[in-house]
Amino acid sequence: METIFNPIDDKSNNIVMMRDDLLPFSFGGNKVRKGLLYFEEILKKNKDYVVTYGSSSSNHCRVIANLAVKHNIPCIIISPEENKYKSNNLKFMDLFDAEIIFTNINHVKGTIESTLKQLKNMGFNPYFIPGGGHGNVGTKAYVNAYKEIIKYEKKNNINFDYIFLASGTGGTQAGLIIGSVLNKDNKKIIGISVGRNDEKGKITIMDSICNYLPKTINSKEMEEKVFFTDEYLAGGYSKYNKEIKKVIHKMLIYEGIPLDTTYTGKAFWGMTKYIKNKKIKNKSILFIHTGGTPIFFDNLKEL
Ligand SMILES: *Cc1c(COP(=O)(O)O)cnc(C)c1O
Repeated sequence: METIFNPIDDKSNNIVMMRDDLLPFSFGGNKVRKGLLYFEEILKKNKDYVVTYGSSSSNHCRVIANLAVKHNIPCIIISPEENKYKSNNLKFMDLFDAEIIFTNINHVKGTIESTLKQLKNMGFNPYFIPGGGHGNVGTKAYVNAYKEIIKYEKKNNINFDYIFLASGTGGTQAGLIIGSVLNKDNKKIIGISVGRNDEKGKITIMDSICNYLPKTINSKEMEEKVFFTDEYLAGGYSKYNKEIKKVIHKMLIYEGIPLDTTYTGKAFWGMTKYIKNKKIKNKSILFIHTGGTPIFFDNLKEL
């Protein structure tokens, strides 16, 4: 599941990539880890309808639509009508027979509520999955993934000083931080923001951690473990610059690894800048490839 490689432009640090993009379902990615746990719950609770939220290019919505059709459970996706383009993920949602309701961004909450109400009135027992698979179930997916990282370290006699990843809603990062706390280690887990500013990003991650862990946890101590940076946004969500394109190019050509401009390419570029800016040397670093391969193919014509 993980590949070690010699990172370009950086010979002193040992960089390992955790290939969650290769998880064996629906093109992998962090949304698969989260989605599988959500469906465990959906099946256990005998739910017969799934409702979720996400943009037309959402990896989360693709995975949920795929899991739903696999389990023969109908799926409704509520999607903001802004930036509605025929992305690969949207094509997959159609292919998986998900019903997509486009709505004005300001009416998302109302549309979710009315959709759930309508389904209940029709006699269904629907389950709502928050956008991006956010929430305790999604967080748990990366508390679990952290155990795999520890196992890898023991097996390979390595100790990661840093973990880098693309951070969006922050659920993935929150799970990793909780994993680190439960394991009592002091890895620096650095979320490269793909859209949010520092303040909103940190607050959301803290909320996810506090929701998951018992109240006894010292939140001051916890705050010191949340490293989230908006320094590498390149203009905002789904925006990218020439340097990001260059990194994606290099990683594809020399490592054969696909990175996309919205998430993993931006985060990988952010990591290389961070390492340079902070003069990090002779460390072991784990980069988590959080998936998004269909977006990589959307990008292909621009690369
Ligand atoms: C959703 C997503 C992320 C961000 O995950 P969060 O848990 O929302 O922070 C990162 N990378 C990819 C490829 C994603 O699809």
